[in-house]
Amino acid sequence: MALLEINDLSSGYGELQILWGAGLRLESGKLTALVGSNGAGKTTLLRTLMGLVRPWGGAISFDGQTITSLSAHAKADLGLALVPEGRQLFTDMTVYENLELGAAAQRGRPHFKRNIERVFEILPRLKERVNQKAGTMSGGEQQMLAVARGIMAEPRILMFDELSLGLSPILTLSLFETLRKLKSEGLTMLLVEQNVHMALAVSDYAFVLSEGRVTIEGEARALAQNPEVRKAYLGI
Ligand code: ATP
Repeated sequence: MALLEINDLSSGYGELQILWGAGLRLESGKLTALVGSNGAGKTTLLRTLMGLVRPWGGAISFDGQTITSLSAHAKADLGLALVPEGRQLFTDMTVYENLELGAAAQRGRPHFKRNIERVFEILPRLKERVNQKAGTMSGGEQQMLAVARGIMAEPRILMFDELSLGLSPILTLSLFETLRKLKSEGLTMLLVEQNVHMALAVSDYAFVLSEGRVTIEGEARALAQNPEVRKAYLGI
């Protein structure tokens, strides 16, 4: 059974419908990608899943429990965590203070010590910069901090929105390497990416979102060979 399942989800903003019956599944311990073009509705799907945008219809279940319309707060308490697009760090605060805030909710607090050690082991650069103000770090370092803050929440599912946006290919590879390490620890992850090529290279399974619906899904390796995906998203 999938750890998280979304069925026939619709939502939008005001009168504007963005999701038109989208569905996907996250298998426990796997890295799943949700890819698609600019404006396909990927961020909207993540925000609806997290409870930041109200679902209009459909169902979301997590670990066998229906969570469709729970608040973002309740979903965070259950273990859903989002690393948002644009990082949303507290730029005037230090690395350490940002990590403390990441662990401030109910799930994270009891595991602060273990998780901060884990973060420093996986992302040693953050340990070197622990007292530096977040806003003075490079884009790549800030993205590392955003990932680390997500880990501090002790998530059962960690979701990333456009992790690679604005980063060089080398930094992107290094962050994806971090995701591989987290996967080897058994964490379930959802990677939302416009960079289809990179996302398919790192994930196990992928869903393609197009105009608010999932149109293609499959093993990431197979999708990278799929003629439709290659033509529409890989420019081949
Ligand atoms: P991107 O990679 O560009 O973020 P996306 O696939 O994540 O694309 P969304 O951000 O979900 O797509 O946007 C889907 C559509 O919803 C777009 O047409 C966008 O303009 C619209 N939209 C997003 N947020 C809002 C909002 N708060 N109010 C109104 N429309 C919105």
